[in-house]
Order: sequence, then C-alpha cells, then structure tokens
Amino acid sequence: MADSLQRFIFEHAPIRGEMVQLTATWQAVTERHDYPAPLRQVLGELMAAGALLAATLKFNGTLILQLHGNGPVKLIVVECSSDHAMRATAKWDGDIPEGNLRELLGSGRFAISLVPESGQQSYQGVVDLDADSIAAALEHYMATSEQIATRIWLACDEQRSAGLLLQKLPERESADADAWPRAEHLAATIKSAELLGLEPQQLLHRLFHEEDLRLFEPHPVYFRCSCSRDRVVGMLRLLGLDEVRSVIAERGEVEVHCEFCNRRYAFDAVDSEAIFAADIAAAAAGTRH
Ligand SMILES: [Zn+2]
Repeated sequence: MADSLQRFIFEHAPIRGEMVQLTATWQAVTERHDYPAPLRQVLGELMAAGALLAATLKFNGTLILQLHGNGPVKLIVVECSSDHAMRATAKWDGDIPEGNLRELLGSGRFAISLVPESGQQSYQGVVDLDADSIAAALEHYMATSEQIATRIWLACDEQRSAGLLLQKLPERESADADAWPRAEHLAATIKSAELLGLEPQQLLHRLFHEEDLRLFEPHPVYFRCSCSRDRVVGMLRLLGLDEVRSVIAERGEVEVHCEFCNRRYAFDAVDSEAIFAADIAAAAAGTRH
C-alpha cells in the first residue's frame, strides 16, 4: 500500500475527514534509530497525527509537533511539510517502561509550530501535556487552541502507522444535528488492524456506508530530511570562526550529525577556512586601512 493521505467530506453535514497510512515513511524513521518499543508506538502515532493535522491546514511550510517531557522520554519531534514530506526523531534516557503517554513523558509540554516557507514569523502554540494518549493530547489541543471539534484515531505497529481524523466544520449550519455524534460513534468502532490494513476506500465504506461521503484524490506522503551541507554551513557561520577553529584544533574536524536522518557532515581545517574565507579577507582588508 502506497503511503497516502485520503481526504473526504460528508456531503450533507459539516464534517470533513482525513485518513493516512504510512509504511515506507514510517520504516524510513524506524530503520535510522533503534527506538524502544513503547517509544516507537508513540512516535508512530505522532507521525500519523502530524500528517493528518498538516492535511487540515491551509499553509505553505512545515508543521512541527514537539512533545517535551521530564520522564524517561525527553523529546519527540515530528515534522510534516505542506507537500507531505515527513521526518521524525526522539530522545530518551535509559530503559523505557511499558506505559501510556503520561508514564513515558512525565509532566510535559506539547508544542505545535507552523514554520512558513516564505521565512515569515512562525506561529507556535503550547499546551500542557495532560493526556494518556497522542490522540487525546491532540483532540485537547484542537478544542482549546483552535476551537475546532476534532476526533482522532491512531494505530501503529512495526511495519505501519495509520490514523483517521474527523473534524466538525464550524462555518456551516446543518439541518442534521445528529450527524456529528453519529459520525463519531461510527468512527469509534474502528479497530487498529482495520486502520492499518484496509485500503482507505474500503475502510471508509465499512465505517460510513450509510452516509453520503465524497472522497478526493489521495496525496502521496514520503520521508525526506531537510538537512543539507548548506544548512550546516549556516550553523557554523553563526558559531563563528574562532569557535570553529578551536574545535578543529582540538579534534581535527567539526562534525555535525543530523538526528533525523543520521547523516554526518564533517569539516576539516581547509573546509572551515573556505567557509569563512570572505570574513577572513574582509578582516585582512580592514587591518590594511
Ligand atoms: Zn537529516
């Protein structure tokens, strides 16, 4: 099954939905780090949730979901761009016990950021992480920060991660007042195996065959890391020539490691002098005047 996002709407009720299934994208994340099983479960669910949420937003840029904790798991990050490129990573300490989200992260914060492609000011919303599951944390965030009634169901195993989202659109009045509770009730009958294993059309038909549903063209989702040598050069420039020279004097090179994709960027003395060549020339010109 190709990784995709499937959008749908209820023709006669102000309800929209998204469904996502990730196989290659999820495996690209898990093969790069050996995540303990309980953390892998939460990371997979957050990836599906990130894809679903990004699909509901109208923007050009990247959606970043971050869970910060003081429990055994310190940080989980999922990023999804508006063209559905994803990456994710996590930090943890020692053994990770079996447990729910609260037990893994302790008391923590849930931050949602939108970073526009245009380089404009990014938006960030932060709430206390007061939930036992990723789905509950996200539903709570959407209800309090966005005032949009949202229900999310997530599932994950070693091979796949998947999710279903329903949103009650606030702007449309409906004659069918029962439509939202009915849709919630029907979606809640979903089983993890169905979410992970059935084709979206098949699953949506199974859940909502008595409703009038319109399905849109699915969008592909894929893994892509946005790190690059140019970006690392930008970081080194911020550090400054003196700092970079002192690291090279100590270790022979500056090494930067991408936590998302595991790529390693190394700069020796020649590389780093080239990065700062213009600055060095300007400084030399300055001393001559
Ligand atoms: Zn990377």
